[in-house]
Amino acid sequence: MIRKLFRNVVSILRDPSINFRERVFILLTMVMEIVLVLAIAGDIYVGENIVEIIALCVTVVIVPLVTLFAVKKNILFIAVRVIVLSLVFFLMPLLFYFGGGVHGGAILWMIFAYLFTGLVLSGLWKPLMLVILTAESIIFYLDDYFNSERIYQHSGRVFYIDSLISLIMIGIVCCIMVWFVEWLLREETRRVQEEAKKTEELNKSRSRFFSNMSHEIRTPINSILGLNELILRQDDASDEIKKDAANIQGAGRMLLALVNDILDVSKIEAGKMDIVPVNYSVSSLLSEIVNMIWLRAEQKGLELKVEIDPTIPRELFGDEMRIKQILVNLLNNAVKYTKEGSVTLHIEKEDTNEDSVRLLFSVTDTGMGIKQDSLPYLFDAFQRVDEETNRKIEGTGLGLSIVKQLVDLMGGDIAVNSIYTQGSTFTVSLWQKVTNPIAVGDINIASIGRFDGSTRFTSGFTAPDVRLLIVDDNEMNLEVEKKLLKDTLITIDTADSGEAALSMTTQSRYDVILMDHLMPEMDGIECMQRIRKQVGGLNNHAPIIVLTANAGSENKQLYISSGFDGYLLKPVSGQQLEEILLSHIPQSKVTLTESGTADASKLSTAGGYSKKIPVIITTSSMCDLPGTVLKKLQIDTIPFRIHADGKEYYDGYEADSDEIIRYMKQGRIFESEPPTVGEFEAFFAKELKKAHQLIYITVANGISREYERAKEAAKAYGNVFVFNSGFNSSSIGMLALLSHGMAMQGMTPGTIISELGNLKKNVH
Ligand code: ADP
Repeated sequence: MIRKLFRNVVSILRDPSINFRERVFILLTMVMEIVLVLAIAGDIYVGENIVEIIALCVTVVIVPLVTLFAVKKNILFIAVRVIVLSLVFFLMPLLFYFGGGVHGGAILWMIFAYLFTGLVLSGLWKPLMLVILTAESIIFYLDDYFNSERIYQHSGRVFYIDSLISLIMIGIVCCIMVWFVEWLLREETRRVQEEAKKTEELNKSRSRFFSNMSHEIRTPINSILGLNELILRQDDASDEIKKDAANIQGAGRMLLALVNDILDVSKIEAGKMDIVPVNYSVSSLLSEIVNMIWLRAEQKGLELKVEIDPTIPRELFGDEMRIKQILVNLLNNAVKYTKEGSVTLHIEKEDTNEDSVRLLFSVTDTGMGIKQDSLPYLFDAFQRVDEETNRKIEGTGLGLSIVKQLVDLMGGDIAVNSIYTQGSTFTVSLWQKVTNPIAVGDINIASIGRFDGSTRFTSGFTAPDVRLLIVDDNEMNLEVEKKLLKDTLITIDTADSGEAALSMTTQSRYDVILMDHLMPEMDGIECMQRIRKQVGGLNNHAPIIVLTANAGSENKQLYISSGFDGYLLKPVSGQQLEEILLSHIPQSKVTLTESGTADASKLSTAGGYSKKIPVIITTSSMCDLPGTVLKKLQIDTIPFRIHADGKEYYDGYEADSDEIIRYMKQGRIFESEPPTVGEFEAFFAKELKKAHQLIYITVANGISREYERAKEAAKAYGNVFVFNSGFNSSSIGMLALLSHGMAMQGMTPGTIISELGNLKKNVH
C-alpha cells in the first residue's frame, strides 16, 4: 500500500497538467508531515512544553486533511493559502513562545516558513506574506529582548537538543526542496524538448503531405492538360468541342494555381518557405512573365503595357522563381479585376549601392479598385474583399497573402494605392545583388502566345534526325508527351523505368533525354547519374532534363545541383517541351517552321518607359503663376470651378484668368469652388504615374474647403502630402516655384515641407 501511495504521489509530482507550485506544495506538505512527526518524537523525548507538542500534533492532523479535501474539490490554491496563514499566524507564534524563543528551535522553523511561503504562493500573496513573516520575526526578537519573561524558556540541555533536531530537520527539508526543484526543472526541459520535437515532426509530415499531394495532383493534370491540348490541336474538332476543351484548360490551370497556393501557405505556416537565390537574367524573367499574362490580357481586350528602365543591370542574384510568382500573381489579379483599359508592368531602379540594386516593380490597372476600408485586410490569408462585387470572379483570397509573405521573406516592401472604381497600383520594392552590371537595354519580348485552340497549331520546328528518350513510370504521361511532340518529327523512344532507360542508353545515342524524378526502384536522379558514368554507354554526355511534378525553387535547385541540364515542371505544354528541346539539340539538326521564325508580335519594354521622378509639386488653377511658367516647369494644376452668369466653367480650361479678370473689372460677381474629393483623387492618381511622391499646395489661406477636400483625398495614398500654403494667393506662385526647385534637387516631400515651413516664417 505504501508503494502504491508512493507511486501515486510520484505520478502527481510528475503530472505536467498540475501547476508547478501546487506540485511543490504537495511535496513540501509531505516532507513537513514527516519532519513534524520526528519533531514531536524529539520534543516528547526532551520533555518540551506541552503546548508546543499539542500544536505540532494538531498541525500533523489538520494539514493532510485540508490538503486531501482541497485536492478532491480541486481548490488546492485555497488550501495553500489557508496552510500558509495558519503557519504564519498559528504555528510560528506557538513554536516561538512555547519553544524557548530565540533560544529554541522556532528560529530555524522560521526559515522553513520563509522557504514554504516563497515556493508555494503566487501573485500578490507571496510578497504580502513575506513582509508579514519579516515583521513577525522582528516582533519576536524585540519581544524576546524586552519581555523575555513572556516566553517559555528552555533549560540549556533542552535548548541544545531542540535546536540540533530543528537544524537537522530544516536542513534536510531545504536539501530535499532544492533537489526536487532541480528534478522538476529537468523534467520540464525534457518535456518541452519532446514537445518541440513532436511539433517539428508534425510540421515535417504536414509539409511532406502537401508536397506529395501537389506531386500526386500534378501527375494526372499533366495527362489531362496534355490530352486536352491534343484535342485543341485537332483541325477537324467542332467549335463546340474546342470551346469545351478550352474550358478544361482554364479549369486545369485554376486547379494548379490552387494546389500551388495551398502548398505555399502550408510551407509558410511551417516556416519552411526558403528563399533560394540564383543568378538570373532580367530579360528572360520578364519574357516569361509577359508570356504568361499576355494572352489572358488579350482575351479580355485589355492592353498590356510593359515599361522597363533600360538601365537595369542585365543579370541579378535573387530568388527568380519567387519574384516571378509575385509579379504573375499581381498581374493576374490586375487582369482579373479589370474589365476594360490597361494593365501596366513598370520596373525601375530605385536605388543602388556598390553591388546591389533596389528595384521598384509596379503593377497598375484601370479596374474596379479597392475600397479604402478593405485595404487593411487585403494581405490577410483567405480574405477576399468586396465579396459582393467579386462573387463572380474566381479566387481564394490566398494570392496576396502569399505575395506579402514572400516579399517580407526577401526583406522587401509592398504597398498598394487604389481608388475604388478607378483602378489600383501595387508596388513591390526589393534589393537584388548585381552579377552583370551591363544595362539590360530595350528588351524585345517576342510573344509566342499560349496556344489556346483559337488558331491552328503548328510546331515551332522540325528535327527528324533528332532522337529523344523520355523516361517516366506513368504510361499515360509518356503517351501524352510523345504525342505533343509528334509534329516536330523527332524520333521518340520511351522507357517506363530507370532500369529500362539504362539498357536503352547502351544501345542508342540520344540527342536529349527527358527524365521523370520519382519512379519506383530507381529514381530519376540515380538513373541520370548512372547514365553519366555508364561504362561503354553511348549517352555519357547527352543533355538530361528532369521532367517532374515536384514544384518549388528548392526542388529546382536540387535537380540542377545533382547534375541535370534543365528542369521542366509538369503539367507541361507542347510549347514548353519544344522550347526546352530547342535549346538543347544541335541547331544543325533543326529546321524552324514558319511559326518558329515568325516574330508573332514583339513588345518593346523601354519605349514606353519614363522614369518616375522622386517628388512632383502640384497646385490649383487659382495660383497666380502665368501659364507659360507652369508649362515650362511642368507644374500641373487642378482646375477650380467658376460659377458665373448661372453657368459653371473649369478654370484655366473653359475660362482663362484674363477673362475672369475682365469679368471682375466689369463689377460682375463670380464664385469659385474647389475640386471635389473625387476630382482630387483622380488628379493625384494621374500625377502619381509621373512621380513617387506628390506635394499639393493649396492656394487658400488657412483651413479651407480646398485644403479639407485635398486632405481627404490624400488619405487614399501614403505618398501624397497636402501642404497648406498659409499665404495669400499671390504668394502661392513663388511658393510653387521654390518648392519645384527643391523637388528638382531630388529632395523628399518631408524636407521640402520643412523648408517651406521655414520660408513661411520669413515671407509675408
Ligand atoms: P483572390 O484569389 O480572391 O484574387 P487575392 O489574395 O489575390 O485573392 O486578393 C484578395 C482580394 O483583393 C481579392 O479578392 C480582391 O477583392 C482584391 N484585389 C486584389 N487585387 C486587386 C486588383 N488589382 N483590383 C481590385 N481588387 C483586387
